[in-house]
Order: sequence, then structure tokens, then C-alpha cells
Amino acid sequence: MKKSILFLAICSLFFGCEAPSNNGQIPGTHSSSTKPKNIILMIGDGMGVTQVSAGLYSNGNKLNLERFPYVGLHKSYSSDDLVTDSAAGATAFSCGVKTYNGAVGVDSDTVAVKTILEIAEEKGLATGMVATSTITHATPASFICHQNKRKQHQKNAADFLKTEIDLFVGGGKDHFEKREDGRNLSNELKKKGYVVSDFFQTPINDLKMDPAKPLAFYTANTNPVTVAEGRDYLPGIAKKSVEFLNVRGKEKGFFLMIEGSQIDWGGHANESDYIITEMLDFDKAIGHVVDFAEKDGETLVIVTADHETGGYAINKGSKLDSLKTSFTTDYHTADLIPVFAYGPGSENFSGIYENTAIFDKMKALYGF
Ligand code: MG
Ligand code: ZN
Repeated sequence: MKKSILFLAICSLFFGCEAPSNNGQIPGTHSSSTKPKNIILMIGDGMGVTQVSAGLYSNGNKLNLERFPYVGLHKSYSSDDLVTDSAAGATAFSCGVKTYNGAVGVDSDTVAVKTILEIAEEKGLATGMVATSTITHATPASFICHQNKRKQHQKNAADFLKTEIDLFVGGGKDHFEKREDGRNLSNELKKKGYVVSDFFQTPINDLKMDPAKPLAFYTANTNPVTVAEGRDYLPGIAKKSVEFLNVRGKEKGFFLMIEGSQIDWGGHANESDYIITEMLDFDKAIGHVVDFAEKDGETLVIVTADHETGGYAINKGSKLDSLKTSFTTDYHTADLIPVFAYGPGSENFSGIYENTAIFDKMKALYGF
């Protein structure tokens, strides 16, 4: 008999107390451990509270985000501006440092900082990233690249070769293959053992992911199209990527970053429909991820954004199915940003904290 069971038996004998019931258990947590084996960080670029609200109301007052038991807020500002950009915003999550706008995986002195993805790799975990922008765009790039300014897509692509990332799916094939330095990074990836494929060769929703080999898949030559224009891969690929990494990370676990990249672009365009369609696509992916975490019991899911975009508001006269919206800017704002957490360790994400605390909490929960 285990000591704890013996203790509970004695305890109930003398004091009439009972073993803790499941009622107090954190949703998605099956064992008594509050440490996750796997972490899935989902970033809705530009997804402030109004973006979430607009998605919710437009979807019959329902979102998968409502399944998350813990919600917090982070302070999104960067080291040189109260209004962050996506590079500094993602670097706060990936490296745990406040840095200047435009910095990709480097601190405010432009010194490279090891990312949570790189640390996970070193510790033997499987790693992956999925995005609906180019995979070399500021958000995903900040998890794997170290560049003093953003928008250096070819340099960012070359940084992917310096890692052992198990999986990446996103746009930007041209940055790997049509390069000023003459390198063909797809061929170099193949030499490293990757399966490399793209949307020309395989319709993405037919993509079979064989966990025996690492995988690179390009969803577009440059940026993928919008949901309204027919892009529909994020929910399905999110589901397959989790299953893929769960096999590759069977022993030590995995880290996966999934980005709903274009919620931000809807905000920049001041187009409410663009925001809502991208928000709901991201929420579908969230649903698949939480379904996995619910069954798995060892996976922490964190959903947040780098910043809000558009100064987006829902105004008087709105109804659930017809929102009257407006914008204050075509850039980002400095709003506090929601953080949703599900699974083992999720209780650590309530409250108000710096964006860099997301990195600190992930690192501590992995036990790195
Ligand atoms: Mg982004
Ligand atoms: Zn933006």
C-alpha cells in the first residue's frame, strides 16, 4: 500500500475525512502531477479582448476558448514603446526578455537569447511550429531565429537550418528556395533527413504526417491567403501536428507553437469581417488542441496574443449577428492581453503579469 493511500485510510478512520474528489481537479489534468509533459502555445496575433468578443458574438455566442478554466492578463509593452510590435511581443514569450520593437530572438542589446523552443530541443523534447503567415514572419521567427531586425525573411529561413525543429508548417517557400545567396534550404533540409513538401505537391488537407521523419511543409510561396479567400488548413494541421509531435515526443514531451497570424492583418486593414473569420478559424484549431489535451491529461495549452490591433471596438446598436464596429488606429495598441490556460499547470496563468512571465512560467513548468 502506498504511503499516501495509507495516510488517507488512517485519516478517514480517525477524522472521517475523504480522499480529494475530482471536483477540485484542474480540467485536462488526469494525474496528480501539476507539471505538464507537453506545452502548446497558441498565439492569435493581434487578438485582444474585442477580437475574442467579436468572434464569440458572431459565432452564436460560443467559442472553444470558453473551455479554458484559467484566464489572466499580460502587459504587452516592449522595451522601447508602450505599443509593441509582433517581433518584440513574441520574443517576450520565446526568450523571457523585454526587447525593442523589431527584435527577433535578441535582447535590447541585440544579443541572441536562447528560446523556449531551443531549450526544449536541447532537453530532448520534440518541437514544432504552425502559422498562417510565412513561417519566417516575426511571430514564428522569434522562436527560432536571432536577428536584430524583422522582415529579413531569408536570414530567418537560414536560421531554421541551425535547429533540429521536428515540424514546421507555414508560408514562405520562396525564402527557402529563391535566395540571394544561392542556397536551396529545402535541399539542405532534405539532406538533414526532413520530408519537405508544399501545397503544389500535396493538397494540405490530404497531408499525411509520418512521425518517423521531421517535416517541413510550405503552405504558400509567400504569405498564405485569407480564410475568406479559401485558406482552411489551420484546424486540421493543428490536430495532425499535435498527434505527430506526441509520437516524436513520446519519451520526453513536446513544445508546439501555433499561430493564428492573420487576426492582426484584419486589424491593420480595419476590416471587422477579416478579423472575425480569422478569429473563428483560430478558435477551431483551439478546439482540436483542447480535445487532445482533454484526452491526454499531460498537456498544458496556453492561448494568448502578442498585442491588440486596430483599437477595435463593438459599439451601441450591435446585435449578436450584426456587430457595429469601429477602429481607432491601423496599428497595434497597448491594451492588456488575455491569456487562457488549460491542463496541468494552468492555474499559474491567472492574475496580471508581464508578457515575459509566459516564458518564465513555461520554463518552470517544464522543469528546465
Ligand atoms: Mg504574427
Ligand atoms: Zn501587426
